[in-house]
Amino acid sequence: MKTSTFSVINFGCRTTQSDGAAIEEALLNKNLRKEEIEGKSDLVIINTCTVTKTADAEARQTIRRIHRRNPDTKIVVTGCYAQRAPEEIIQIRGVTSVIGNSHKDQLASLIVNNHLSVKDSLVNKENSSILPGGPSVYCSSIFESTELRSIADMSGGGRTRAFLKVQDGCSYRCSYCVIPFVRGHSRSLPLEEVLYQVRNLLRQGYREIVLTGIHLGGYGRELKNKTDLAGLIRRLLKEKSLIRLRLSSIEPLEMTDEIIELVATSPKMAKHFHVPLQSGSGRVLRLMRRPYQPDEYFRLVERIRKNVPNAAIGADLMVGFPTETTKDHALTRDLILNSPLTYLHVFPFSSRPGTQAAHIQDTIPKTISDQRSLDLRKIGEQKNRSFRKSQIGRSISVITLETKKSEGTTKALSSNFLRVNLPDLSVQPNQFLNVQVTSINKTGVRAIPVNASFG
Ligand code: SF4
Repeated sequence: MKTSTFSVINFGCRTTQSDGAAIEEALLNKNLRKEEIEGKSDLVIINTCTVTKTADAEARQTIRRIHRRNPDTKIVVTGCYAQRAPEEIIQIRGVTSVIGNSHKDQLASLIVNNHLSVKDSLVNKENSSILPGGPSVYCSSIFESTELRSIADMSGGGRTRAFLKVQDGCSYRCSYCVIPFVRGHSRSLPLEEVLYQVRNLLRQGYREIVLTGIHLGGYGRELKNKTDLAGLIRRLLKEKSLIRLRLSSIEPLEMTDEIIELVATSPKMAKHFHVPLQSGSGRVLRLMRRPYQPDEYFRLVERIRKNVPNAAIGADLMVGFPTETTKDHALTRDLILNSPLTYLHVFPFSSRPGTQAAHIQDTIPKTISDQRSLDLRKIGEQKNRSFRKSQIGRSISVITLETKKSEGTTKALSSNFLRVNLPDLSVQPNQFLNVQVTSINKTGVRAIPVNASFG
């Protein structure tokens, strides 16, 4: 395959974005040129998600759109959907190759060295579905992957915040979740490698590093030199030029007192926790195979609030899980209303092939599921508004992200995850400031600087 320009389209979570960054870097190292305008490149990599039916549909639509606009573009589909259903993707017109997560690390070599037709590397689940001369498929059991390669996702722009994937895969088996089947067992980036990557980012000028992973709380367990997430955090905090470290989602039972204390006591730690809840009903949590009960979750978020009084505390919630009753939904509502949560991510249940929950018969009609989503989203908005109001008058630390010249304002992000608007102020990106919150706006807060802090 002779190709000179490429573009990467990423779907899904931060982990997938990090994978996309790694793909980009690998292609650049092969002397391909990145093309920013979609549809203009010779090659398009579609890095997919498969967590819901909608995610699959979006990937299919994108493939069709790109092929329609430019039938000569080579389309390579990779990521979680490619790993889960390569036989489905090769049926879509315009697809040149399908490369599952199992072969994603080799994607650049496969493309550039024109190895896409090497049949002994082709380990498709259903070889028979590949037509002679049709798309090449590279996809084998993801459970054979034991190592992790990671490149930071720096797409946040402005060289301010970088997302570093330090863990991939998951050894849990929540009954609704397809992720373990497309990302394999939990595996972590060795501590020395994380340090190397972080130092590299700091040298490039990034000042906030966000640690990400599919199951971040499981970091380090399977490494030869056993460590854990708290150990990793402690080590990273020793890096002098690191100003802010933020943690992405951590499962409730892995949010240890040690991690809470590190966030509470270190000025470098963003005062931000994200702890998936999924349901406030113990019965539903058991069906979901989530290893905690609502009262344990409630006590955990209370403990976080007590130790870190102004922290942002977010939760993921799933509505419409099969058999979910009105009473189950009411339990979820009550738990949230009484909790110190400050924002919610609400997702409707989506049946995924191969998961246990896909076999539970008693599904919830979409209209009910939609109503419950709306209900919880409204509660989430109210809680977030109250949290933002509670910050008025407080002095908070922010990192500046961009200046809106036309509006004469600077956008920033606070340690406790507030989107901050600094009116009548033009400050370069990547500065740390102390600001005082003056009011709330639609989705964030307005603030004025009180004094420049970390510079
Ligand atoms: S913890 Fe559960 S929901 Fe999260 S990735 Fe693992 S199996 Fe999926």
